[in-house]
Amino acid sequence: MRIIIMGPPGAGKGTQAKHLAQHFGIPAISTGDIFRANVSLATPLGLDAKRYLDAGEYVPDEITNGMVRDRIGEPDAAGGFLLDGYPRTLAQVEELDGMIGPGGHELDAVISLVVDEREVVERLLQRARIEGRADDTEDIIRRRQEIYLEQTAPLIDAYRNRGLIVEVDGFGEVDEVTKRILSACELSGAEMIR
Ligand code: AMP
Repeated sequence: MRIIIMGPPGAGKGTQAKHLAQHFGIPAISTGDIFRANVSLATPLGLDAKRYLDAGEYVPDEITNGMVRDRIGEPDAAGGFLLDGYPRTLAQVEELDGMIGPGGHELDAVISLVVDEREVVERLLQRARIEGRADDTEDIIRRRQEIYLEQTAPLIDAYRNRGLIVEVDGFGEVDEVTKRILSACELSGAEMIR
C-alpha cells in the first residue's frame, strides 16, 4: 500500500500521516522530518539542507530525490509507505514514478487535505509563537505558502488525472479529520482499508 498525503503547509499533514500510518501499519515518511533530524545532527545532508529550510525554500532535487529513494528502499517500507512532503514538484512526481514503477501506477491514493489558506497561516503563526520555530517567521510562513501554490498545488491536478486524488476537508479536530480520510478512501475505492 502506497499513499501520499498532500496539503498546504500547516494543513495538519504530519499529524494525519502519523495516525494513518499507524492505522495501516506502514511507515510515515516525512521528508521535512528527515531534513530536520539531519539538521539537528549536523550531518553533511543537514548542512546542505539547512539554508533552504531556514529560508522556507525547497531543497534541491539532487539532494531530496536520493534521500527518498534510499528511505523507501529500507526494509520497513517494503510493504508500503505513506509519503508526507514528497513529491512537491512535478519533477519529483516523475522521479517517484521511476522509483515505484512505470507510470506510477503503484500508488493507491493521494490524499489532498483541503483547508482555508488564511486559517492555515493563522495556525502557523500561532504555532511559531508557541514553539519558537526558526523556520516560522511570518515572512517565511508566507513564502512557504507561495511556493506551495506555485510548485506543489499543480500536483493535485496531475494526480487527479490519474484518478488517485481523495479530497478531504482538513478543518476540524484531528480524530475527526482522520475518520474523514479513512471513509473518503473507502468511498473512493482505494483498496487500502483492512
Ligand atoms: P515540511 O515539514 O514538509 O513542511 O518540510 C519542511 C521543509 O523541508 C520545506 O520547507 C523544505 O525546505 C524541505 N522539504 C521537505 N520536503 C521537500 C521536498 N519534497 N522537496 C524539497 N524540499 C523539501
